[in-house]
Amino acid sequence: MNKDIWIIAEHFDGRIRPVNSELIAFARKIPGEIKVIVIGHPVKPLAEEIARATGCDVIGLDSPAAVLYNSEVYRYLIKKLCGQDQPRYLLVPHTPFGWDYAPALAVDLGFSAIASVTDFNPGNSTFIRQILNGKLLEELKSPPGCSAVVTVMPGSVKPETEIITSPGSVRILEFEIPQLKTRTIRYLPAQPGTVNLKDAEVIVAAGRGLKVQERIELIRELASLFKRGAVGASRPLCDQGWLPLGHQVGMTGSTVSPKLYLACGISGALQHTMGMKNSGLIVAVNTDRKAPILQVAHFCVNTDLSQFIPVLIEKIRKLHE
Ligand SMILES: Cc1cc2nc3c(=O)[nH]c(=O)nc-3n(C[C@H](O)[C@H](O)[C@H](O)COP(=O)(O)OP(=O)(O)OC[C@H]3O[C@@H](n4cnc5c(N)ncnc54)[C@H](O)[C@@H]3O)c2cc1C
Repeated sequence: MNKDIWIIAEHFDGRIRPVNSELIAFARKIPGEIKVIVIGHPVKPLAEEIARATGCDVIGLDSPAAVLYNSEVYRYLIKKLCGQDQPRYLLVPHTPFGWDYAPALAVDLGFSAIASVTDFNPGNSTFIRQILNGKLLEELKSPPGCSAVVTVMPGSVKPETEIITSPGSVRILEFEIPQLKTRTIRYLPAQPGTVNLKDAEVIVAAGRGLKVQERIELIRELASLFKRGAVGASRPLCDQGWLPLGHQVGMTGSTVSPKLYLACGISGALQHTMGMKNSGLIVAVNTDRKAPILQVAHFCVNTDLSQFIPVLIEKIRKLHE
């Protein structure tokens, strides 16, 4: 085992997922050399893109079986790579892909499995995760000499923004994979109304301060003006059925870190802010100057949202003309 930290990059439809920048930022908290592993077919363009964007050395694992994500393929290829060299930590995004293969991979490799972490404490080399609905934090570490597969919660750290002057190296390894027990056939479009908050650059989030359901349309309209905009919500709005559960941000919803989070009529209860406090810029639109959201917001627009949002929509539309 060496002291390397390997990040297993996630990609979909030929695009690197934003969560990879968060994993790089997370990995920089841990002493050791960072390498990024990317699996696909063809993998070279993805590997080169990561090396350019991050400056990290990248190993691309290429196999015709890796055209679409498949847990067995990921496990097989990573195990092959670990046969040559073993990292101290293998960081995996805690996403549906990540949580699919990470525990089995840990068993395959004889590593510890440490899931859904949000932080690393370099003082005592422990990983930290929230338990009991965020009421307690738990510290975990693998036994001495034992490597670990660690899944990192999206949105728990700010994405890496360092300006890269020289790209990392790229090494491509090609493999034929023998018999598989499962095959991924194709991806189907999600049900209408499903949102991908984690990939959004701008989230316009609605809270109980909306007061009437019709104002959701204002929020939707505002979000649609941004190229990668999405609608978020506090829990009461989802509980009362104004928006589907997939929009909920917070402890029992998604953890997000967009570039801009516009919290409209959201008081900022701890259960909400723990899901969005790492956003790049937080702007709260709230009539209450003492609302707790102001403890995490960078700016507050202290006015009635039903007056402010239409003006903002109009101004942004003019900018687009
Ligand atoms: C176990 C548990 C888990 C939870 N999980 C989550 C979670 O994941 N996500 C989540 O969001 N909540 C969660 N909650 C609920 C959370 O505690 C809060 O109740 C909830 O976040 C409050 O939602 P809100 O801010 O929309 O509403 P409120 O707290 O009612 O706040 C409304 C805000 O709107 C402002 N406002 C009113 N009128 C206007 C106006 N005209 N213009 C502008 N501002 C106005 C008010 O000043 C106020 O600040 C959870 C609770 C529990 C117990």
